[in-house]
This record gives sequence, structure tokens and C-alpha cells, in this order.
Amino acid sequence: MPASVDVTSVRLPLAADAVVVGGGTIGAWTAWFLRRAGLSRVVLVEADTLGKGASGRAAGMVRAQGGTPVAVRLGMFSRDFYAQQYEALGIDSGFVAQGYYVPCFGAEEVAQARERIAMQRGLGLEVRWVDSGDFDASNPAMAPAQTQGASYAPGDGYVDPPRNVLAYTVALITSGVTIAERTRFAGLRMAGDRVVAVRTEAGEIATDRVVLTGGPTLGAIGAVVGCAIPSGGARHQVVVTQPHPDVAADRLPMVFDVASGIYWRPEEGGVLWGMSNPEETPGEAVQFDAAYHALMAARVAQLLPVTATLGLRRTWAATIDYTPDHLPILGPVITADGPLQGSVIAAAGGHGMMWGPGVARVAADLSLEGHSDLVDTTDLGLDRFDEHGRSRLAPDPIALPFPDLATA
Ligand SMILES: Cc1cc2nc3c(=O)[nH]c(=O)nc-3n(C[C@H](O)[C@H](O)[C@H](O)COP(=O)(O)OP(=O)(O)OC[C@H]3O[C@@H](n4cnc5c(N)ncnc54)[C@H](O)[C@@H]3O)c2cc1C
Repeated sequence: MPASVDVTSVRLPLAADAVVVGGGTIGAWTAWFLRRAGLSRVVLVEADTLGKGASGRAAGMVRAQGGTPVAVRLGMFSRDFYAQQYEALGIDSGFVAQGYYVPCFGAEEVAQARERIAMQRGLGLEVRWVDSGDFDASNPAMAPAQTQGASYAPGDGYVDPPRNVLAYTVALITSGVTIAERTRFAGLRMAGDRVVAVRTEAGEIATDRVVLTGGPTLGAIGAVVGCAIPSGGARHQVVVTQPHPDVAADRLPMVFDVASGIYWRPEEGGVLWGMSNPEETPGEAVQFDAAYHALMAARVAQLLPVTATLGLRRTWAATIDYTPDHLPILGPVITADGPLQGSVIAAAGGHGMMWGPGVARVAADLSLEGHSDLVDTTDLGLDRFDEHGRSRLAPDPIALPFPDLATA
């Protein structure tokens, strides 16, 4: 028998220049950006182990074709970050620029797509309208004549989420961020309207900067400090089919059927596709819902007929984070006493693979400077939500369908 090792005894520093809570992709890349910006003592506090939340279980779709300018900017930054990661860090997140179609199935969708493309192009994104004939020619695995055309971004692609966890772990260690795993955040100590310390179950760290992340459990982290954060969690399911030559990677661009909430990409010679059920009650969910999968598999088979003949190599369900307007939350903690100086909340609203590095960069900017040149965060804080969690912003229309948080 090997001697037992007490992995729970984390030696926490007594003081830090910044403390980041949550070792998912948002917290980890935020800690790295803070360190890279010059802070010497950055501590990352994670209740479990790095990547144990949504970040280790994602599908990895990376799409700069967002439905709002904020989404496009965060997506472009993140895609470019992934594409240049190896040069900067000596390790990458497995990004592949596969190309991504968002097809239209009706005239109204076509008009919306054309407007969206104009907005995206205005922000510098390489994206174009593709008519139905060209769409069919580029998607040989799909049943022909299903769509009325699509928007297409050749630079969109996917990451390998476990490899992203590996990449940020390496980046944290080599940059000198102190990683405190198995260390649960337990609250903040304030002096007036300022943060002065972060409390954890393993002790307190004096600091005047804290960034709170937490993915699907961010609401609970907010509750610890008396801050209502309308960020929820819901079941999200992903399957990977057996390999088949018809769906080889060079025949399978990525596709998002927005109305059905289904997307796909190549994976190990088969199709990886994902789905969310907006009729479900929100909350933590890790059981695979076979009935909902069967319902959605029929839609996928209609679009990608070969999938009806393919068995499944892998299936999983995990809790995905989401916000009522599908937009990120980036702003200070707000309690009954008002905004808390020195604090930043960072949530990707279920888009942590496609926006993660961007959201993290903005969170680090806010923590250091109070503003960011990447996106204007004036409207992205908690003060955009009313007491029922309803946002005053128009939702991003290019998003998965999720249960309604406001009425949940
Ligand atoms: C099945 C699935 C598929 C997905 N596919 C995609 C996709 O294709 N593209 C995309 O863009 N996004 C996708 N997402 C969403 C994406 O994974 C998330 O938006 C992203 O991972 C959120 O990152 P995070 O760091 O905010 O949260 P998480 O990765 O959940 O990390 C939060 C961390 O906080 C820790 N924590 C919680 N409470 C405490 C506490 N009290 N103290 C200390 N630490 C605490 C948790 O242990 C966890 O490690 C998917 C999600 C799921 C579940």
C-alpha cells in the first residue's frame, strides 16, 4: 500500500495582490491575465480540482459569429487567443479552425442572418452569406435542399476542453500563480465599501482585489456574500457517434441549428453533437436524459441521415451555466449596501469555450483598471437585472435555448 498523502492541506498565503475564486476556464485564465499584467501574488482558490466544473465537460464549440457586438468581440478575441496560444505558452487548447455554418430554415431567419452578417463584418469578422446550393456542396453529409442558405465563418472552430484545462494548468504553474485546490471560498471581509480579505475554509487571504467565478454554481457563491447573481445551471447533453467515412472531418464543417438548439462538429471520425432542453427545471443535472436525446436524434438524422445508422461511442450530461439574456456578467459584486469596490464577477453565460479567454481578459482589466478596451462593460454588470433576474438588454439570439431563469 502506498503511504497516504494529505492532499487537503493547502498552504495559503496570508496576503495576495489578487484572489480569483473558481478554477474553471474563466477563473484560471483571469488569474493568468492578472499575473501577466504584472501582479506578483495571484492566488486561485478552487473548491475541488481545476476543471472539475463545466469547463472540463464542454463540447468545445468556438464561435465568433455572435448575435450581438459584445458576443462577436469576445468570440474574436478568444478565437485569436486559442490560435496563437502555442507561440505564447508552449501549449495550446487544441483549437481547430473547422469553419462554422449557421443555417437558415425560413425567410425570417434569412433576413436576420443578413443583418447579423453586416454587423459582424463591421466588427472585422470574416463571415459571409452562403446560398443553399453552396451550403449543400460544402456539407456533403447533410441531406440536400434543407436550408435557405447560411452564414459561414471559416475561422470559427473548436477546442478540446480537457486539453484547455491542461493548457491553463500549465499556464498557471509556469506563470507563478498560486493554485489552492480543494479550498472552498467562504466569504469576503469588507471595510466600508471595499474588499479587504477573502475568506476560505482553509483560512483568510488579505487582498484588495477579488474576482468571483463559479460557472453553474456562481449563484451560490454570490449568495455567500449577499449578492443575487442571476446565473443558473441546467442539464446539457453531448453525444459522440461511432466513426463513419461520410462524417470524416474534411466532410463535416460545424453547424448550429439555432431553433432546435443542436450543434455539431467532428470528433474522432464521428459526429459530436449537443443539445439542451428548455422545458426542463433548472438546476444541477448530471443524469443523461435518453428520451430527450431520442427526440433530438430524430432531428439530427433528418439533417445528417447517416447518424441514424451510427451507434454512440460516448454520451454525457453535465450542468451548463447560463444567464437570462445569454450575455456575460462582468461587473462588481452588488449587495444591499451597493457595489463592492475591488470585486469583479465574471460569468460567460454558457459560452465559456467560445468567450472564455475574452471574458477572462475583461475581468482582469476590470480588476486592474476598472474598464476594458476589449468590450464596454457599462451594460454588462449585475445592475442590468431587475429583482426577478430579468435583463434590460436584448438577449443574444444566437444561443442555446435554456429554461427561463426569471420565472424559475
Ligand atoms: C456539456 C457542456 C457542453 C458545453 N459546450 C460548450 C461549447 O461547446 N462552447 C462553449 O462556449 N461553452 C460550452 N459550455 C459552457 C462552458 O463549459 C462554460 O460556460 C464554462 O466552462 C464556464 O466556465 P467557468 O470557469 O465560469 O465555470 P466552471 O468551469 O464550472 O468552473 C467553476 C469552478 O468554480 C468552482 N467552485 C464552485 N464553488 C466554489 C467555491 N465555493 N469555492 C471555490 N471554488 C468553487 C467549481 O468547483 C468549478 O471548478 C458547455 C458546458 C457543458 C456543461
